[in-house]
Order: sequence, then structure tokens, then C-alpha cells
Amino acid sequence: MNAPDKSLAQAAAASIGHWVNGRTVAGHSGRTADVFNPATGVVTGKVALANSAEVDAAVAAAQAAFPAWADTPPIRRARVMFKFLELLNQERDKLAHAITAEHGKVFTDAQGEVTRGIDIVEFACGIPQLLKGDYTDQVSTGIDNWTMRQPLGVVAGITPFNFPVMVPMWMYPVAIAAGNCFVLKPSPLDPSASIMMAELLKKAGLPDGVFNVVQGDKDAVDALLEHPDVKAVSFVGSTAIAQKIYETGARHGKRVQALGGAKNHMVVMPDADMDQAVDALIGSAFGSAGERCMAISLAVLVGDAADRIMPMLEARTKQLKIKNGVELDAEMGPIISSAAASRITGYIGIGADEGAKLVVDGRAFQGAKAGAGCDNGFWIGGTLFDNVTPEMKIYKEEIFGPVLGCVRVKDMAAALELINSHEYGNGVSCFTRDGNVAREFSRQVQVGMVGINVPIPVPMAWHGFGGWKKSLFGDMHAYGEEGVRFYTKQKSIMQRWPESIGKGAEFVMPTAK
Ligand code: NAD
Repeated sequence: MNAPDKSLAQAAAASIGHWVNGRTVAGHSGRTADVFNPATGVVTGKVALANSAEVDAAVAAAQAAFPAWADTPPIRRARVMFKFLELLNQERDKLAHAITAEHGKVFTDAQGEVTRGIDIVEFACGIPQLLKGDYTDQVSTGIDNWTMRQPLGVVAGITPFNFPVMVPMWMYPVAIAAGNCFVLKPSPLDPSASIMMAELLKKAGLPDGVFNVVQGDKDAVDALLEHPDVKAVSFVGSTAIAQKIYETGARHGKRVQALGGAKNHMVVMPDADMDQAVDALIGSAFGSAGERCMAISLAVLVGDAADRIMPMLEARTKQLKIKNGVELDAEMGPIISSAAASRITGYIGIGADEGAKLVVDGRAFQGAKAGAGCDNGFWIGGTLFDNVTPEMKIYKEEIFGPVLGCVRVKDMAAALELINSHEYGNGVSCFTRDGNVAREFSRQVQVGMVGINVPIPVPMAWHGFGGWKKSLFGDMHAYGEEGVRFYTKQKSIMQRWPESIGKGAEFVMPTAK
């Protein structure tokens, strides 16, 4: 493993623009946003915020590139993906550095993010097989019928701050390999990785215009949602925005998959290995400072598991190594922004006021303890609540920070009822040694992604990612075969040759003969 490049955190504020038609383009809207290093609180960049004319230019470039790219044989599109894969593997640490510098997550975690993104590129390399279609010989005498999948045209991806490499990679490798052209609208909080990926795609031989980036905020998103040439929108972010994207996109006649927020439970049964359960809870609640849509934010402690596990959780929460993410032994880094830090500290106060027992209070954590230069960064320590109940705001709402709430229930039936009544249904986990409990839990739980003794069950590239209920608006999950279906439309062709055509017009519904 290479040591992280700490100078990135101190570099002079850079100007981060758009990527259109194979080159960087400076912003012209007159609007920019500061980009911070969350560990230090220092402004390291200024990102352009696109207006609708800049979005139009990116969509026009994508639309112009589409006919030739769609007509390129899938094997040749796959070869570009293979070359991209090779370059990503060479540059993976550079991407991870950029993530740590703007997002704050610890470098080793950023490396994991890049790897999970690369998995999808590997999947997309198999596009000829994925697009090969179905064929039926002789559906009727002298007639054959086959289906093919064709690309949609220009498709857009709107992505959140918490995975600036992996979440865009849930989308564009599959979309592009399937023959579409792509416009990415990344989060303005950590925009640099999007341009690095664009440069690597160009180096891999991707024709200009096939992949474009517009930096921006709501204005850019609205322009994409209303643009007649954008045929589909993939969104990942918070639920309120996901629902708005889904409804607005559908109103404008687009396909939409909009992945939203989460509140993920982990059930600990009394027969579970408590050491393993504690490791799982600490890692999945506090990894990436809890800023993961698959973070575990609620532990559901069944029966006497609660009294046995709480002292262990308390001790481990207090021992977390909270440091600048460039330190290789850091376990948890800063929060993305000062606004997010205020929101999270607000929730901690609300939880205490609501009557939950505040076992470890992360509000006391001082940035200076995280390393040199971190005094003005956005820091909160690991926070642990006991006696959380379903009426509480800290139970119901997504906090998206390093806060773990523990709920005590008497048995598995009560645990399932709790989870199934929650409005979110992204991920869930159950720790047990009992095969039947695990089996029934998997079958009955109303959640899209389930882990049995696995705390963060993010499906692999070929399985597809998606939650249920308010965690996903739309029908298709991200990536995997559902991703291929989302980015293509099916065409069915029925064909015969003159020798098999009978004489005379047929007025009855044709049936197989
Ligand atoms: P966010 O909803 O604030 O932003 C997501 C994207 O939408 C960004 O590109 C942002 O610029 C844009 N946006 C923000 N406000 C908008 C508005 N009013 N109109 C149009 N576009 C707008 O989310 P975030 O804070 O960047 O990311 C965290 C959220 O994302 C959490 O809720 C988390 O659970 C969720 N998330 C979900 C998944 C999943 O797979 N379900 C994965 C990662 C993150």
C-alpha cells in the first residue's frame, strides 16, 4: 500500500470545472462553491456550478456522440472498458487520495471505495454477453422471432457526496458499455474525482462526448430533468430529493431510478458471537463516520444480548481512532461539512432530550485530537445511545453521521415487526448462529439487501444494488443485469422471407401455424 500524499490536503485552492466533449471547460455561470478538506476545514478548491446553458452544451455533446457510439460493436466498446480498467488499476491510489482530500474518509476506506467501483467496470467489460438477446427459431412456420436490447441515448447520473467514485461507477460503466452517452452531475462537495475519471476514460480511447461532467447543484439537476434529449436519469442521494427526481423525471417522460436514504438495523440474537457482533457494529456504524447509505445506525438487541453487548460497545466506541484520514491507522475521519456536523450534533441533543440514554457523547470530540492542523475541521466523535424507542426522531430519521442507537426487544418477532414498520428498507443485518432464524429473517424482512452475519451487505457488481420502500423510487436496481435493462430498451423482431408468405390478406389475429 502506498502512503497517502498529504500535500494534496494543503494544495492551493484549485478551480474545478466541467468536462464536455473530451476536455475540461471552465464554468461561465458566475456561480461557484467552495470545496473543503473536511479534516482541516481549509478551502482547497472552487467548483463551478452549471447553469442550464452549460447543461445544454453537455447534453448536446453527448447527443452528437450518440449515433456513432451506439453503432460501435459491443466488443469494441468493451475493449475501451478493458483499457479503462487497466488505467484505473494503475491510478487507484490517486483516486483514493482525491476522495480523502475532499470527502475526508480514511484513505484505506477510500481505497475500498475505488475497488468496489472497479468491480462494476469489470462487470461492464462483459457487455457483449449481457446484450446478446434471445432468439426463437420457427415461432411459426417460416417465421423467426428475436429480441435485442438497444441503448436509450443520452442518460444522466446525479450522485451524492458520500461515494464520489463508487456511486458514479454504479452507473456510467454499464450505461456507456451498453452504447449510451452519459452526463454526470456529481456532488459539489467532492467534485475532483469526476474529472479524474473523465481523463482516464479519454486516455482509454473513449470517443469525445460519450462521457461528460457538469458540476453543479439544483439548477443543473433541474435542467437535466427537463431536458428533452435526456432519456433516463439515475439518482442516488437523500429520500426527499430522490422522490422529487423520480416524480419530475417521470413527468418529463424519462426512465428514472432514484435511490434514497436509509436507516439500517442490525439484529443481534442472544446466540450470536458477541465479539463478532461488536466488531460488526463498530465498523459499520462508525466506518466513513456513518456517512454510508448502508451504515448500520440502529442495533436491535434481542433478549439478554443487550446487557451483554452494551458495555463492550461503550468501550469500543470510546477507543475509536479518530484521525485525519491520511493517517494509515485512522479508523474514522471527519464529517463532510460544518452544516452536516451541526445537523448531527442537533440530532444527538434531540436524542438525549427524547429520553434515550446517551452512553458516549461524540460532541465532546475536539479536532485538535485528530492531528496537526485539524482544529478547524468538521469533527464529531463516535456516539452511542441505549434505550432508543421507535417513537423517537433519532430512531425514525436518517442522521447520516457516527451515531449508533440501540433498541432493546424481547424476541425475533418483535425485531422483525420493528424493522418492517420502518419507512426505509435499504439494508439490514442479523447476527445469529441459528440457521432457521437466519432463513426466516431473510424471507420475512421487508428490506432490499440482507446480511446474515454480514453487517454491510452491498451486493457484488453482477447482483445489483437497491433498497425497498423509501430507499428506492423506481423499478430497477443499480448495476448488475437490472442496470443493463435500465440503460437499454428491448426491441422484438419477427421476420419471414417471401417463400413462407401465404397468398391473400389475413384479417384474423395471426397465430402460430
Ligand atoms: P443529497 O440528496 O443532498 O444530494 C444528492 C445529489 O442531489 C447531489 O448531486 C446534489 O447536488 C443534488 N441535490 C441536492 N439538493 C437538490 C435539490 N433540491 N434538487 C435537485 N438536486 C439536488 O444527498 P447527499 O447529502 O449528497 O448524500 C447523502 C444521502 O445520499 C443520504 O441520504 C444517503 O443515504 C443517500 N445515499 C443513498 C444511497 C443508496 O444507494 N440508497 C447511496 C449513497 C447515498
